[in-house]
Parts: sequence; C-alpha cells; structure tokens
Amino acid sequence: MSLVIVGSLAFDTIETPWERRERIVGGSGTYCSLAASFFTRPKIVGVVGRDFPPAVLKLFKARGIDTEGLEVRPGKTFHWEGRYGYDPNQRETIRTDINVYDGYRPSIPISYRTADIVFLANIDPGLQEDIIHQVRRPRLVAMDTMNHWIRSMPETIWHVLKKVDILFANDEEVRMLTEEPNLIKAGKKILAAGPRLVVTKKGEHGALVFGRRLVFGVLALPCEDVVDPTGAGDTFAGGFLGYLDKVRRFGHPEIRRAAVYGSVLASFTIEDFGIDRLKTLTRREIEARFRRFKKLVSF
Ligand code: AMP
Repeated sequence: MSLVIVGSLAFDTIETPWERRERIVGGSGTYCSLAASFFTRPKIVGVVGRDFPPAVLKLFKARGIDTEGLEVRPGKTFHWEGRYGYDPNQRETIRTDINVYDGYRPSIPISYRTADIVFLANIDPGLQEDIIHQVRRPRLVAMDTMNHWIRSMPETIWHVLKKVDILFANDEEVRMLTEEPNLIKAGKKILAAGPRLVVTKKGEHGALVFGRRLVFGVLALPCEDVVDPTGAGDTFAGGFLGYLDKVRRFGHPEIRRAAVYGSVLASFTIEDFGIDRLKTLTRREIEARFRRFKKLVSF
C-alpha cells in the first residue's frame, strides 16, 4: 500500500521552562513521515526554502521517505515559535512565519495519485481540500488541524471534514471546533459531519479513539523526562497511519494496535528536542516499548 503525507516542514523555535532552542527542524509533515517510516515508505508533500538543511533531506531518503513531492523554493522555510509552561499540555504560539507556504498550492506528483492512505497533516485547510481532489479514490483520508485554523477558518474545516475518514485533533481543538465541552458529545458531532473516527489526543493523558461502534482509550506512556512535547501529535498520527499502511486492514483490532503504536512513537519524540530522538530510534526499541505498554494496561 502507500501513504501520502501532506504537511509542514519547518524551523521551530521552542521554549520550555528549562531550555530554549532556536530554529531547529520540525513541522507536522516532518514528524509524521519520520514516524511512519518505521512501518512503511511514506511519500511526503510540502515546500521548504533554500535554507532547509540538506542533511535532513538526506535523512528522509535514508529512511525510505519519497521526496518527489517536496519542493525547494527560493525564500525562507516556514517558521513557528512556541512556548511551553510547566504543564507540557499547555503551549502558546508566539509567532508563525508562513514564508514559502505563502501562495503555495501543493501539486501531487502522478506517482502519488493512486495512494491508499492520504494524511492531511496540520496545514491550511484550504490546501487540505485541494489535495483530496488530486488523489484518485484513496481507501482512507485522515486529517489533523490546530487552533490557529479553527479560529480563522472553521467553515473550511467543517467542509473538509465531509470528505475525511479520520480526524486527529487534541482535546482543546475538538472542544473549540464543536463548541462542545464533553468529548463524547463533541465526537458525535464530528462523526455526524462525515468522519468514521475521531482520534482525540490528550497530551500526557493519551488519546481517545471514538467511532460509531468503537470507543478505545490509549494511555500515553508515563514519561519522567519530557524534554520537548513538540511533534507528539504528528508523531502519533504518523505511527498510527504508518502501521495501518503496513497491515493493509482498517478493522477495529488494527485500529487499536495502530493507536498503541502511535502512542509508543510519540513517547520517544518527547524525550529530546525536535526530531533528535526519531533520528536514533530503532524498530527494536519500538517493539520493546510496545511490549512494555501491553504490560502496563493489562490487569
Ligand atoms: P504538534 O506538536 O504535533 O501539534 O505539532 C507541532 C508542529 O506543527 C511544529 O513542528 C510546527 O512547525 C508545526 N506547526 C505549528 N503551527 C503550524 C501551522 N499553522 N501550520 C502548519 N504547521 C504548523
């Protein structure tokens, strides 16, 4: 099967109560495709400026990520700055410089158009809709979004949702989008708009997978040292969809295991800044943590 990931490739400036890092590589598409690459060979779509490090493009290739859909344009790479408080679930966006994404219309390469799974990671919802129309009958379309877009383009998001099978969003975003504080009621509102599944990410408390005949709660692995929570959500989605692409089945047992793999992958990302932990991660470590996870939740 094949998985196309459309998202941002970015420089992130991150401040935690303990440390500040300037312009390290991040972006929703970056985290997601690196996570998915542990299970499949994802195809990435996005744009970077000439300032984007060639070493990261090399890393993508080394990890089997298809970069045919990645444009390099004159100008600066997307830049996002965020600050975390003592509660890692609370973050504030300080600035967003869209740079080369200004006026960008993604064009899906011909070789990507027959993809089975399409993930519209966090980018402008108008662009997300554009992409759905460029892929021929995918078996599964998933999307993510964030407060920035929910605030500025809620109607476009509801419109895109009609064409999507899975929504990934964090609890705050789900409440904001539906104007509904209860996550079950909020989930039902989203399912009524079209998706088959809502995956509500709850930071260090895990995620809730909600469908018409499925409610599955997945823990976040208890982690003593959260260095940088950035990218946990995108990594979760990458692990989840990468696993589904590998097993080629979308039944409830596969969805449950996909959610656990998503959580396992995210638990590694937050152990270091940016993509650093994903660079050294091995399949063996993933499987060991998956087994630990199983022990943790069985009684
Ligand atoms: P997460 O922590 O999984 O929610 O995702 C964090 C990533 O999202 C960072 O690496 C940012 O570069 C990226 N990001 C932040 N704001 C935006 C935005 N408005 N559009 C696209 N990507 C964004």
